[in-house]
Amino acid sequence: MSKLLILGGTSEARALARALAAAGQGGEVRLAGRVPQAAPYALPTRTGGFGGAAGLAAYLRAGGFTALLDATHPFAAQMPWQAAEAATRAGLPRAHLKRAPWAPAPGDDWRDCSDLARAAAALPPGARAFLATGAGSVAAFAGRRDCALHLRAMVAPPDLPAHITLHLGQPGTEAEERALFQRLSLTHLVTKNSGGPARDKLTAARRLGLPVLMIARPPLPEGQSFADVASALAWVAALP
Ligand code: NAP
Repeated sequence: MSKLLILGGTSEARALARALAAAGQGGEVRLAGRVPQAAPYALPTRTGGFGGAAGLAAYLRAGGFTALLDATHPFAAQMPWQAAEAATRAGLPRAHLKRAPWAPAPGDDWRDCSDLARAAAALPPGARAFLATGAGSVAAFAGRRDCALHLRAMVAPPDLPAHITLHLGQPGTEAEERALFQRLSLTHLVTKNSGGPARDKLTAARRLGLPVLMIARPPLPEGQSFADVASALAWVAALP
């Protein structure tokens, strides 16, 4: 039987762990530990980094793992590359599980930005923008003191500049997002193209005629990549 190490932090990782546990499959989940978890994963779970690709390779060998699945968030920029290098060093099969990105619908006004810095630079002077970009994005917008910015995050970032107002918590329904955007008199929505269910903000922006600065995903290493849990499960089932 294979023993999978899942690099988690997404709903897909959680669903995969649940399915593997239900099938009696051995495995372990590893989380960075940036945010408190709402509920435990169905497989044994540990928290904290490995200390780069070398640390991860050593952990894979010491733990007797037989495969590695990177199911980190599509905007986790380093871990997929460290996973690829670590799996190569340990001589193990490796794959990535990354949900499909959002695609624009008729009526959407999306402006593509290759990263957070370019999105920050693309805001016109005096913009009132909602940043659905998470706690780690503060630095990119810190210099835009000419704008009124509203940041949604799960955890409060340290040292928030005065021109950025924090909205702590989860996204709302489409009606809630629309009411919030109207109350804030927004001119722009800024978001990462994370994909997944939290697209009500995009529908709200479309209905309000708000332009969306859509940040593209960081690149993934070459190799097997799945967009859904079922495909990843099939890969696990076919492992030697
Ligand atoms: P990152 O840039 O890819 O990783 C930075 C460092 O965090 C890695 O070098 C690694 O440290 C550690 N790390 C990341 N994921 C880990 C995991 N699953 N288990 C153990 N260590 C991990 O990632 P990030 O953008 O800082 O995101 C951190 C975590 O938050 C990810 O697991 C991701 O799934 C989750 N997340 C990220 C976003 C986002 O927008 N970036 C959004 C939602 C959730 P070592 O080198 O010490 O191993």
